[in-house]
Amino acid sequence: MTGAQHFLDLDDAQRPALEALIVRAHAFKKGVPDAGVRLRGRTIVGMFFEPSTRTANSFAVAAQQLGAHWLAFDTGGSSMSKGESIEDTARTIAAIGADAIVVRHQESGFPHALARHFNGAVINAGDGWHAHPTQGVLDAMTLVEELGSLEGRRLVIAGDIRHSRVARSSARAMWLLGARVTLCAPPLLLTLSAPGWGFADLATDLDKCLPTADALMLLRIQKERVDASELPPFEDLTGGYGLTLARMAKLPPHAVIMHPGPVNRGLEIDDSLVTHARSRIERQVQNGVYARMAVLERCLRPLERAAAGRA
Ligand code: ASP
Repeated sequence: MTGAQHFLDLDDAQRPALEALIVRAHAFKKGVPDAGVRLRGRTIVGMFFEPSTRTANSFAVAAQQLGAHWLAFDTGGSSMSKGESIEDTARTIAAIGADAIVVRHQESGFPHALARHFNGAVINAGDGWHAHPTQGVLDAMTLVEELGSLEGRRLVIAGDIRHSRVARSSARAMWLLGARVTLCAPPLLLTLSAPGWGFADLATDLDKCLPTADALMLLRIQKERVDASELPPFEDLTGGYGLTLARMAKLPPHAVIMHPGPVNRGLEIDDSLVTHARSRIERQVQNGVYARMAVLERCLRPLERAAAGRA
């Protein structure tokens, strides 16, 4: 298919393009009359090599809301498990008529490699430690909905920064919109490599960060990317930043709590706070559908939306 656009990361994203996606996501949330036919006749393949509840299902719903066919590729039962290369898999998926692939993989850069061989749109649904760009869009959308402009607002992201692709993409999205971002973690879970993080402040004491935060986003320890034998027991780590009622009281009254999920209750966030009035965790999931509708439309109808001055 010609004219498709990939959506691989937010590394080179520009503020107007991100703002336009958020405006469009809000429009989908309010109701776009022809939403159900925007991608009529298109086929979108979901390839999830890592587990996913929120991302896979919200992409499937987003595709269906736009009138597209969603085909869940069985990664375990595919010929990749028989040694088929990325290149041949991409060609095969193109040959069956797919217009886009939504891909999640444990290797950083896998979606980029797939994009080199697929003649349609490739959308990154999370690659290793690297990026989760639609999470960045939905988190920014949720915070814009909450605070209006993000200019000068302070977002604190606390938890396993080092192994988190969400931290990378969401921090970048909020920063692009003018927010000040603080990444907070015990030293063992803080990023070791500065490149790409120059825009954010680093902190190790969450209690000091809370009084000036407009939003606090918590992250679980990314157990699948961590060698647990190199870390102290997880409870010892999360004790220093896990959100409790006492810690929440240090936030300004307007500040909200976010988490990309899945939540590890009792570790990075107290059980009672997950559905607290100040939690926007379910709102993030709900907004994920609209943010992904905006991304799918952008990738599959880029020229038309640009020409209409709406992209
Ligand atoms: N669901 C997010 C991700 O896929 C966050 C997480 O798994 O902790 O990266």
